[in-house]
Parts: sequence; C-alpha cells; structure tokens
Amino acid sequence: MELNICHLYPDVLNLYGDGGNILCLQKRLAWRGIDVSVARLPIGSPTSLSGFDLVFIGGGQDFEQQVLLEDLHRGRSREICAAANDGVVFLTICGGYQMMGHYYETFDGKRCDFIGLLDLVTVGAKERMIGNYKFRCTPEAGGSVVVGFENHSGKTRLGPSLRPLGTVLAGRGNNGEDGTEGAHWKNVFGTYSHGPMLPKNPAFADLLLATALERKYGRAELQPLDDAAELAAHDEICARV
Ligand code: GLN
Repeated sequence: MELNICHLYPDVLNLYGDGGNILCLQKRLAWRGIDVSVARLPIGSPTSLSGFDLVFIGGGQDFEQQVLLEDLHRGRSREICAAANDGVVFLTICGGYQMMGHYYETFDGKRCDFIGLLDLVTVGAKERMIGNYKFRCTPEAGGSVVVGFENHSGKTRLGPSLRPLGTVLAGRGNNGEDGTEGAHWKNVFGTYSHGPMLPKNPAFADLLLATALERKYGRAELQPLDDAAELAAHDEICARV
C-alpha cells in the first residue's frame, strides 16, 4: 500500500509549523510499513493534482493569499474541485481553508475571489482571533477533541448545507460567534488549527490516513501506534486552554 501526498503552495502557505503536518502523516504511515511519497507544488508548478491521495494546504497571510490568486485561477482551482469531487482527502488550514470558499474580503476591503468549492465566505474583522483553542469534531469527523493554535482576522460563515468540522470548546473557531469550527464536506477538511495540528492530535491524523486508504484500497487497517508522547502533548494543551 502507498499514499501519495501533495503539499500545495508550500512556498506561500506554510505558517506556524503547518509543514509539520506532512512530517506527521509520513511518519504515521512509515511506522506502519505503508509507503508514502510527498510532492511539493509551489506557485507555477506544472505538476497536475491527478494521482494524489491526500492534498495539504497550509495557512498564509492576506498578502500571500492575494499572491497565489493568479495561479489558482489559471487552472489549479479547477483541479482542486475535480480532485475533491473525486473523494481525494484535503486538509486545509486557515488561509488554505478560507481559499476553499467563495471569497475572503480583508478588513480594509480587498476582496480575493476564491475557489467556491465549499459554501462559505470569510470577512476580515478588526480584532484578530489569536490563541490556543480546542474543538470537538462532529461524529462524522471522528468525534475527537482537537487542540490547536488560531490566528486569523477572517470570520468565516458556512452556508446552510455545509457541515462544520466541529464545535468550539474554548477559543473562537470560525467566527467567535456561532460556536462552529472549520468545515467538512466529502473528504475535504478545513480548520483554523495551526500548530502544526496533527502531531498532537493523532486521532485526527489517523482519520485522514484511514479515509485516504479506504478510498484507494477499499479498506484501512491502521495498526495502533504508541501515542503516549502525542497524547501527553494533547492533554497538556487541552488542560491549559
Ligand atoms: N489571512 C487570513 C486571516 O487573517 C489567514 C491567516 C492565517 O492563515 N493564519 O484571516
């Protein structure tokens, strides 16, 4: 068995250790004897998204989000939609998550028209939402408690039929108002959780891997790992927040 992972826009969307999520996925597969390849596709890369099982998109500041718009609308946007509709697993964080929606309008009124894959919009607020936070995933997203670090000005609102990834337990999440965090549609997961999020949330990391393996091979037997260190980190942050 093998999973092919893509880190999309690592040159511009890679804040607060987001790239560590890739290392975590690589390790959790290797420890189980499952092969893994990782391709990094920066702005302008001619490599297509076809053939990838899991695509990771990290966060970036407003400026970086504007920088990649041209590349996105040159064809990457269509590829992302095609892959997502085909069931490819996506983990998208903060700026990358906002990018999956219709648009992001900054606090000073600059509008980035994004992909429109997920029925959500984001509008910048004056006060940034910053700090460690935690949320509980919906049952369809595994039900685990995820701890992370959020830092965004954008307030994201989901359309009526889009399910959140979870419910905020402490912190702000999508907008600091309606108690929702992130979004989950098909195998696309969006969240505000930087950190990197996966090393200290092993249940969520395994949910992504199991989903990708299941889609590719029709089965996903993930051997249990010794997650003592990962869970100690998780519990420590959980208790502090
Ligand atoms: N620029 C976006 C915001 O501030 C995303 C920031 C991020 O990815 N951390 O809302």
